[in-house]
Amino acid sequence: MENQTIISVNNLRKKYGDFEAVKGISFDVYEGEIFGLLGPNGAGKSTTLEIIETLREKTSGTVMVDGIDLDKAPDQIKKIIGVQLQTSGYYPGLNLTELIELFGGLYNQSVNPMELLDMVNLRDKAKAKYKEMSGGQKQRFSIATTLINHPKIIFLDEPTTGLDPQARRNLWDLVKDIRAKGTTVIITTHYMDEAEVLCDRVAIIDSGKIIAMDSPDKLIDNLVASGFEKPKEVKQANLEDVFINLTGHTLREES
Ligand code: ADP
Ligand code: MG
Repeated sequence: MENQTIISVNNLRKKYGDFEAVKGISFDVYEGEIFGLLGPNGAGKSTTLEIIETLREKTSGTVMVDGIDLDKAPDQIKKIIGVQLQTSGYYPGLNLTELIELFGGLYNQSVNPMELLDMVNLRDKAKAKYKEMSGGQKQRFSIATTLINHPKIIFLDEPTTGLDPQARRNLWDLVKDIRAKGTTVIITTHYMDEAEVLCDRVAIIDSGKIIAMDSPDKLIDNLVASGFEKPKEVKQANLEDVFINLTGHTLREES
């Protein structure tokens, strides 16, 4: 199948005063893929995402989203993308159904809250207040809010940071479900195991520059081909496997 480009970023730069946080990066995201932006803190991941999301001004470069030029029609871009809303602090007294209806109103979209809550496995929390949910539930809800306007592309900035192993795996399944419905996903993460499981392709970004970009498989093969060897013998399992094996996959968030 031919790869259709849905996002094209060319020579993107972002300066905060004298400091250049993004130093001329270029990449394409293909329709229907999960694309990962990986990199240490301060690498420029969030800045890059927020520029594409039209939430931050770029200094120079071009960004095309589904054929729409960011410089010409940012409002058109807004209509076809899903961005995680900062729900924390907003109306902590409203329940999930009420929050979805509220956000639907902001987007001028008629939404079916139950359908959306089903998608993220929160149907039984429909009448629960946002503040009463666990970390994993809050993240799932925040991902649900990205889907309100039936976007072609969703942006997830570190959606699994701070979650326990069960909640993290549960979120991976959710992201895969969303992609399976045809939505393109751009995700940032610090967890390489996560990127390996989820991402079709990744860009590794460091100090505002892309230093590698390919499928996780290809990047690993390239490293091995360069003569790299693991310093010690690799066991058949790791501590995370032990943890999951002992505690199971079931979510722990009954609060
Ligand atoms: P990441 O998401 O990869 O951790 P960010 O895009 O948040 O990185 O930040 C990249 C760099 O730009 C960091 O050095 C950060 O301190 C700086 N930065 C981010 N936002 C601002 C801002 N509003 N003003 C000044 N510097 C900023
Ligand atoms: Mg960030």
